[in-house]
Amino acid sequence: MVPEYSAPTALKSSGSADYRGGIALFEVPISGGIPRRIWTDRRISDSTLWDWSPQGETILYSDDLTGKTPSVSEMDLKTTKRLPFLQDDEYAIYESHFSHDGKWVTFNAITNGRSRLFVTPFRKSLAPRSEWIPITDGHWDDKPRFSYDDRLIFLASDRDGHRCIWAQPLGADMHPGGSPFAVYHAHQRRRSLPNWSDFEMDVGMSMIVVNEEELTGNVSLLEPAKATSP
Ligand SMILES: [Zn+2]
Repeated sequence: MVPEYSAPTALKSSGSADYRGGIALFEVPISGGIPRRIWTDRRISDSTLWDWSPQGETILYSDDLTGKTPSVSEMDLKTTKRLPFLQDDEYAIYESHFSHDGKWVTFNAITNGRSRLFVTPFRKSLAPRSEWIPITDGHWDDKPRFSYDDRLIFLASDRDGHRCIWAQPLGADMHPGGSPFAVYHAHQRRRSLPNWSDFEMDVGMSMIVVNEEELTGNVSLLEPAKATSP
């Protein structure tokens, strides 16, 4: 599972590792030290840690429980109580991330070959689909992240035929508040964004961090051995 940093003031990070066939969640100070195991579940073979709330109380994660529609759970780190947070039979849900004030969560939900982004109020219970606010309506929009001031959603999208980074302004009610605009086009073979499953993105105060890939190929010419003349 991928490590996730908590709020900068807490100076902790967490991650997980296989623990006797299951999954465990650890926290370790960034300054170093012995990791503290917070939680273990031996029934789970894989898990994805999506985000840690800015107040450091809650994590959002997905279990890999085979045969179930992918969903997002929340865990209270004080009690290690776990609850379903985003779960819907029609949608596979991924990439859940908090706003910087901890009041909202953005995520992508996939159905019928389309990935759409939503924002929903964070709550300590299941967030019903009736509360999800649609943010995009494209063919494939993914990796949503709130901007540092929570006024934009940064996202990756194939809406112009390439995987590029766009931004969707938000109104005070967290509904779309204006037209989306391109932040970074990646149309070159040498600087393209990887497949959705390999691509990750995160947003800081004045930068966006992405992994890019370079598509190259080599053509080899194999010359058959020349017949030696007698
Ligand atoms: Zn583009």
